[in-house]
Amino acid sequence: MDRIFFENTTAAIGIYTDPVNNHETIVLGEPEEIRQFFRNNTPTDRIYVCDRHLGMIADDLNRISDNRKFMTMLTDTVNDMAAVLKEAQGKEAVAPCFEKLGNIFTESIQRNMIQNYLIYSVSALYNTKLAELNSSVKLTKKALYKVSDALSTQFLAEYDELIKPFILLQEDDKKRSYWSIKEQIEQNECDSVIHIVRSHKAKGWQTFYIAEESFTAFMSLYIEQLSQANLMIRNCDICGKLYVCKKNRYATVCGDNECKSKQHTIINVRSRKKAMANPFYAVYAKFSSRCSNYRRKMTPEQRKKYDVRFSARKKELLAFKKNLTETSPYSKMKAFQAMCDEYELELREYSDVVRE
Ligand SMILES: [Zn+2]
Repeated sequence: MDRIFFENTTAAIGIYTDPVNNHETIVLGEPEEIRQFFRNNTPTDRIYVCDRHLGMIADDLNRISDNRKFMTMLTDTVNDMAAVLKEAQGKEAVAPCFEKLGNIFTESIQRNMIQNYLIYSVSALYNTKLAELNSSVKLTKKALYKVSDALSTQFLAEYDELIKPFILLQEDDKKRSYWSIKEQIEQNECDSVIHIVRSHKAKGWQTFYIAEESFTAFMSLYIEQLSQANLMIRNCDICGKLYVCKKNRYATVCGDNECKSKQHTIINVRSRKKAMANPFYAVYAKFSSRCSNYRRKMTPEQRKKYDVRFSARKKELLAFKKNLTETSPYSKMKAFQAMCDEYELELREYSDVVRE
């Protein structure tokens, strides 16, 4: 964890997407360092590179919403750092805070690159302030404290700006809320420096993007990249989690089985309600339930015989009903009703014949 480039002054996040191979590369570091990496593909210990499946940023964002402890921990540490800065204390005094940040920086296979980006940005912001403080040490004690107080306030304000896109939309403790791409991008307009790096590799020209000090700018670039590959990030209609799907023919729920089954139930209820609203449905349902009743007292053998005719009549009625809607003329409704009555009578008589 020592190599988390605390001495940098500008936190940037680089992105390269390769939809053909379902792959994304996310890089944290100073803009120039990231640029060099994209050009030469040789990672240095001053950047942090993550290669993985395309679209995993959605998972990172979901995990931040699921694990609220992270945000609390980050904010607590930032407050401690601001207090140290306010007292005009140097690197040693703030070391325990950096250690805490280091412990939540995830280098494991489960690494959360957004979480890492936030930690890295906090360290970059702090170090800029520390450098300013160090240049003021020759001042009188009173003047120094004035500077340190201002720097501490500035640091907190910049932190608030950094986490603005992560403030949960609903502050309801019971209901988890997930990042909403549309709202967050619209509400947090980005004013960021964006670098575009074009590099000619074996496979031809490749384009890499680097966003400076703005997560929203990074997200905008990321969404644009997915869009060019005909992909989009959206929220699940049931649980709200973000997931990546094809742009046009997308499902409205995420991959969770629970969400899929809830969605099915909703669709079933909706289509049943719609069917019930159709007056032809009620007429047909009456026919079908009465004729089913006639089967009750039959032996399996008799039932088999009866069902041949019952199925044929049902098929005829359903074919007729298929073209009817609530707005069909009344004469059609009457014709359908008469047809149902006629077939019902026929089947009642037939059921007697079958049972003889
Ligand atoms: Zn879901």
